Parts: sequence; structure tokens; C-alpha cells
Amino acid sequence: MLDPVTRGLNSPVYTSSSYQYIDAGENVYPRYFNTPNQAAVVKKLCALEGAEDGLLFSSGMAAITTVLLSFLNSGDHAVLQRDIYGGTHHFITAEFERFGIEFSFAANGSEAISASFRDNTKLVYIETPSNPLLAITDIRAVAGAAGAGQVISVIDNTFASPIHQNPLALGIDVVVHSGTKYLGGHSDLCCGAVLSSKAHLARIRSSAANFGGSLNAWTCALLERSLKTLAIRMEKQTRNAGQVATYLQTRPEVQTVHYPGLEDHPGHAVAKSQMTGFGAMLAFELDESRVRIDEFLKRLKTITPALSLGGVETIICAPKDTSHAKVSAAERAQMGIPDSLLRLSVGIEAAEDLIADLAGALGD
Ligand code: PLP
Repeated sequence: MLDPVTRGLNSPVYTSSSYQYIDAGENVYPRYFNTPNQAAVVKKLCALEGAEDGLLFSSGMAAITTVLLSFLNSGDHAVLQRDIYGGTHHFITAEFERFGIEFSFAANGSEAISASFRDNTKLVYIETPSNPLLAITDIRAVAGAAGAGQVISVIDNTFASPIHQNPLALGIDVVVHSGTKYLGGHSDLCCGAVLSSKAHLARIRSSAANFGGSLNAWTCALLERSLKTLAIRMEKQTRNAGQVATYLQTRPEVQTVHYPGLEDHPGHAVAKSQMTGFGAMLAFELDESRVRIDEFLKRLKTITPALSLGGVETIICAPKDTSHAKVSAAERAQMGIPDSLLRLSVGIEAAEDLIADLAGALGD
């Protein structure tokens, strides 16, 4: 897709925050999510997700909170998967009550999610593969339970990326992404994306302009650059993750490896039916009687203990101290997140270098 003005292979950064209008109603303005740089990236994301329309936000949380508050009113009820990104979980527990929005967290799995529906349920929210446990939810089943139009179904597709999973084609109404992760892919930008039909997008757009969390032109251009390598990054990162997961399973210091590509993962068959690849995120539990987490992290040389995920560099974190630090210990236990869990975002390095680094940190 060429820049329509210059026919350049890349969009120039259009710095204007003010655009001439001739006829009433054609206002272009950064906070209205309709500048040339936003439009150029949205077009590409729509092609990747099979969506009719989209919006770009200044963070994944801006995208998620705007979608939730676009559809939910006081007195409505939302069903949410329990094992989700800690920031989303915290937003719901910290903010929903004062807006008068009722909510239920359901155990992972489409049956538990559907069983939590009530007469006033307006929205169902899932994340698959989930952060941090890589739980798999049957997308078609949740979309089916939501029905056509009665309950809005929303999915956080960050972990799979549009390369491995296209939920709109499986019946989901709205897809959200933390574009800070795979879409950006180089650990150098923060953004969020929402993709859906034109009708749902119109509803979200009107709240989004009020909330004001749109993405600036410079980051749009950086994101547009990143999308050119999304498929090739995902392919290499996913291949590496499969090799690393298989290796970790052989280690006595590692108790459980959570990766949907492993045949003994409880969600393997469903993942196979709805994903074209298993992604590059995995988690594992260390046997702390053999290796302490802090010692393990300090011994790593190639892999960096760091927040976030989805970049070309392999990074690792303990969810209890990072992505799920704001979730209480009791809720983490209910979500099934042990303190010994480490989450690995596998990058594009040589798989053997990653495996050697892990082996060294495990004590070899
Ligand atoms: N969704 C998932 C699955 C995430 O992992 C994150 C952040 O880690 C978010 C949403 C929030 O995205 P952001 O940090 O860009 O606001």
C-alpha cells in the first residue's frame, strides 16, 4: 500500500493537528482518530485482522478501557475470563463498581464463561492465549454463546497477533491489541488497536473521541514500519518458542511448561483448531527447592529480565512482580498463577543461544 499523496513506500509523518475543512462534517483532527497516519496503519491492520474498521490508541489499556466503557452502562453485567493480563483485571476490580457495572470473572474455558451469563449480561471478554498462563479458550464457542448482537464479544488478541489468529472470522465482535507488543515488535513504542465491523466501530469511535486516547502521528509511522516485518518476526519467534519449550520440558529444575504448542498442553487441540501457529510466549514454573528465581534471573546473560513482551529480544519476568503485581496474592492464587512462575517472551535470536543461556542459569 503506497502513500496516496507521494506514492512513497512509507507514509510521511503528517505533523498537522489542524486540517482545512471545506464542507461541514469532514473534520480531521488527531483526537478524532482520522489523521492520514492513523488511516494508513488502520488500513493495514484491517487487512491483517479481516476487519472493516479500526482505531489506534496511545496504549493497549487505552484501547481496552475505551472498548469496555463504550458498551457497558450502569446496571449492565460483564463476564470476563479470570486469567487475563493483570492491568485489565485491575481496571475491572478498581473501576467497574463506581460506574455501577456488575461483573463476574469466570474460570478459563468456554463452558464456565457461558455459564456465567445473566439476563443483564451485555459483554463477554476473553484473552487467548492468556497472559501469563497461556490458557486457551474456544473462541467459536464463546462467540456462539454471545449470539448475534445480544452480548458483545471482545477478545484481547495480543499474544497470538493477527498472524496466528483472526478472531473476527471465528465470530468475535471486537478485537483489541496491545500494539506495544508484537505489532510494534522492537520494544520502542506504546500503542493499542481496536478492530471490528463498521457498526461496532462507530459506537467505539464516539466514546473514544470523548476519552481522547488516540495515537500520535510519529508512533503511527513507527508502527507502520514494524508491520512490514510482523509475519517474518512471528514465524521466527514462534519457531524459537517451540524449541525452547521442548528444551525446558527436559529439565528437572522446571516443574511445568505452559506452551499451547506442546501436545500435553490442555488447550493444544483447541489452539490447533483456531490458531495457525502457537505464538512465541511461554511460561514455566521453577522448582525453587533446586533453583531460586532471583538467582536464576541474575545468571541469565542473553535473556533480559524486563517488563513487556513481543519484541525481537527475548525477555523474561516473574508475573507476581510485573504484569500481575497489582493483582492481590489471593486473586493470583485463584487465577492459578504461582509465585514460582516465569513468563518468557521469545525473540529472534538463535534458538541454541537462548537454550544455552537457560541451561547456564539452571546451573549447567
Ligand atoms: N493486553 C495484554 C495481553 C498485555 O500483555 C498488555 C500489557 O502487557 C496489555 C493488554 C496492555 O497494553 P499496554 O501496556 O500497551 O497498555
